[in-house]
Amino acid sequence: MRITAIHETTAALSSTMRNATIDFSKMTLSVVAIVTDAVRDGRPVIGYGFNSNGRYAQGGVLRERLIPRLLEAAPDSLLDAEGHLDPARCRAVVMKNEKPGGHGERAFAVGALDCAIWDAVGKLEEKPLYRVFAERFNDGQFDAQVPVYPGGGYYDPIKGLDGLRAEMQGYRDAGYTLMKMKIGGAAIPDDMKRIEAALDVAGGGANLAVDSNAGINLPTALEYAGAMADYGLAWFEEPLDPLDYAGHAELATACATPIATGENLFSLIDAENLLRYAGLRRDKDWLQFDPSLCYGPSVFVEMVKRADEMGWSRKRHGPHGGQQLGLHLAAGLQLGGTETYPLVFQPFGGFGDDTQIADGLVAPPEAPGIGVETKAELYNNVLKPLSEG
Ligand code: MG
Repeated sequence: MRITAIHETTAALSSTMRNATIDFSKMTLSVVAIVTDAVRDGRPVIGYGFNSNGRYAQGGVLRERLIPRLLEAAPDSLLDAEGHLDPARCRAVVMKNEKPGGHGERAFAVGALDCAIWDAVGKLEEKPLYRVFAERFNDGQFDAQVPVYPGGGYYDPIKGLDGLRAEMQGYRDAGYTLMKMKIGGAAIPDDMKRIEAALDVAGGGANLAVDSNAGINLPTALEYAGAMADYGLAWFEEPLDPLDYAGHAELATACATPIATGENLFSLIDAENLLRYAGLRRDKDWLQFDPSLCYGPSVFVEMVKRADEMGWSRKRHGPHGGQQLGLHLAAGLQLGGTETYPLVFQPFGGFGDDTQIADGLVAPPEAPGIGVETKAELYNNVLKPLSEG
């Protein structure tokens, strides 16, 4: 088999909401389609991939460097012993002539391609991706149900406290038990009122996580930690700059609420340094690496394995990104859960159109690959037209 074409485009993810650090009015992401000459079920195998929210499209890197490398490679050099696309071999080609370090926007471009390659692998094997991950990286074991929570509770100029309560009630009515809201973008007393409004409907602090999106500094994070200590919240996400490991270590000594971070670390060594130096507590804190941003699921799996070696339970991982990819990894590697975006970042956020959430749990899709075809708006309006060039 061979790759016959790779298409890429920039798609909008715009929204009026904001968190403590950025607004999303001009947010974009990169989408890629890798077309092959392999046929399954009478149709050509096409792998689809895209980034998650928050980091913008990377069309220049894809068009000028990464895609030409894949297309110029000898077709057989990209294949495994079965004659299927090999994610590791593809990655080696994509990363040729890229220096170590400086893991910035290149990571998201590589991530989109790696997602698409894995989607194609699942389709070539005619298996949902969680089963492929389970077979390759987890002795065939997987979870049939995965804990899932909605990322929401954004600052919205028109919503107010009643709107926040209504949003959270909507999540409960939709079958979620754990939910998450933004903090750090208002004065602390105002944020405590927002937390209490969400707690009115969350059914206890353990059902509510808060996320300050690295928008506050250490003294302010310590103030938040103190103000929130009695709520018994599920976690305090991205309290500090993601690379401030010493700051996390200091916060961890004084923060009763579990700390969650990792979504803005994009390389294996960044993840390893977090685990070495950030003072995170293996019995309570959370690791939230983003599989579409950290050079793709291939590197995400390496991060999980490295955390294994450093004594972390896989149940302390909850991948960021709010997409089907995180759900497959959570199921196939038996992680602690994953995020979803049922209301925002459409049509990319959230799971398949028929997905049922009950008691905060969801089953991964059974369609081959990632299952992006089970999201009609995404497939019909973005992916299918892209694959046709
Ligand atoms: Mg976050």
